[in-house]
Amino acid sequence: MVTELHQELRGAVRDLCGRFTGEYWRKVDEARGYPEEFVRTLTEAGWLAALIPEEYGGSGLKIVEASIILEEINRSGGNSAACHAQMYIMGTLLRHGSEEQKRRYLPKIASGELRLQSFAVTEPTTGSDTLKLKTTAVRRGDHFVVNGQKVWTSRVQHSDLMLLLARTTPLGEVKKRSEGLSVFLVDLRNAVGGGLTVRPIRNMMNHENNELFFDEFKVPAENLIGEEGKGFRYILDGMNAERILIAAECIGDGYWFIDRAAQYAKERIVFDRPIGQNQGVQFPIARAYVNVEAANLMRFRAASLFDAGEPCGAEANMAKLLAADASWEAANAAVQTHGGFGFAAEYDIERKFRETRLYQVAPISTNLILTYIAEHVLGLPRSY
Ligand SMILES: Cc1cc2nc3c(=O)[nH]c(=O)nc-3n(C[C@H](O)[C@H](O)[C@H](O)COP(=O)(O)OP(=O)(O)OC[C@H]3O[C@@H](n4cnc5c(N)ncnc54)[C@H](O)[C@@H]3O)c2cc1C
Repeated sequence: MVTELHQELRGAVRDLCGRFTGEYWRKVDEARGYPEEFVRTLTEAGWLAALIPEEYGGSGLKIVEASIILEEINRSGGNSAACHAQMYIMGTLLRHGSEEQKRRYLPKIASGELRLQSFAVTEPTTGSDTLKLKTTAVRRGDHFVVNGQKVWTSRVQHSDLMLLLARTTPLGEVKKRSEGLSVFLVDLRNAVGGGLTVRPIRNMMNHENNELFFDEFKVPAENLIGEEGKGFRYILDGMNAERILIAAECIGDGYWFIDRAAQYAKERIVFDRPIGQNQGVQFPIARAYVNVEAANLMRFRAASLFDAGEPCGAEANMAKLLAADASWEAANAAVQTHGGFGFAAEYDIERKFRETRLYQVAPISTNLILTYIAEHVLGLPRSY
């Protein structure tokens, strides 16, 4: 349901994003830089603190509103991936941290004084099989000592804090594979050189990714979030929020590609008529629009269930899959409509094409969503 608040939000975020043009994002992309000015402006306006309750300095909005903020960023031609995690990673701390931890960190995260926008889960040798991750954290006195390796960890170089998922009880000693994992809040500010090595990974788009190597790295025991051994359950809670928000970003991308493609198809004259007069050009754009609209409905359904505190695992996963597919379809339609110019950097299509491709793979790959639906919704045998 579209409310007045949603319309106001859209208008305000759209105005802010309008100050950051395609040229701005292109320059950041070309330099493989960080959109510092954009992130600072967004932070100062309070949008990244949307999900932090008012008592901790945020605006206490819900997932549906947060999703509108991220959708609008991507719909403007920008890329939320540079900072989206500042919005939702703190959810683990909010839901499972102690009051002392929340009072210490959340107000500073809300103001942007501290950036918590890294979450180290994926490992090079275990990939999607998260429960087999090999990084260990062993209690020694008032510290946990971490050894192991993570890969693809985003935004480490632009974060002060990071969440880390590590095994605290060996896999062979737990009753259920999902037990024995714990979540830690890692202070990155003095970590490099103190047992943590960060190695950047150059990739397809301008996305700051890193390999992390932990060698006898010490984390104070007071930085354990919640109970030792229950970390996997804690991060599952956050994954539904993340999937809904990423779905919204894909929907923003989808509308952006469709707007650009439709506009270009009206203006580009070939054989003495607009190319958009040809059904061969119209239909892929129209079909992509249908699919973005359908994904959008599932995104709002998942968000309203989440905000009502209802189970929404299936809907959050379906929203992410539908939206990622729809934005990718729209991206292809936009490139095709632009012909050769779809490949020219100055049109921004090729940049957004690279950016939206990510969501078929991260934060969860499409196949893994399908295995979830097959097993948990349709009752089919577990395939892995
Ligand atoms: C740009 C980027 C940013 C990222 N940011 C982060 C981050 O901040 N923190 C973090 O922890 N991780 C991050 N990731 C990692 C991301 O979550 C993983 O890449 C993703 O979950 C897939 O894991 P994998 O790459 O190990 O692929 P794998 O698990 O090796 O899978 C490879 C392919 O095989 C398929 N596959 C695997 N098993 C099955 C199966 N049983 N059935 C069917 N198909 C299967 C997968 O669908 C996939 O297509 C990021 C990745 C990228 C590319």
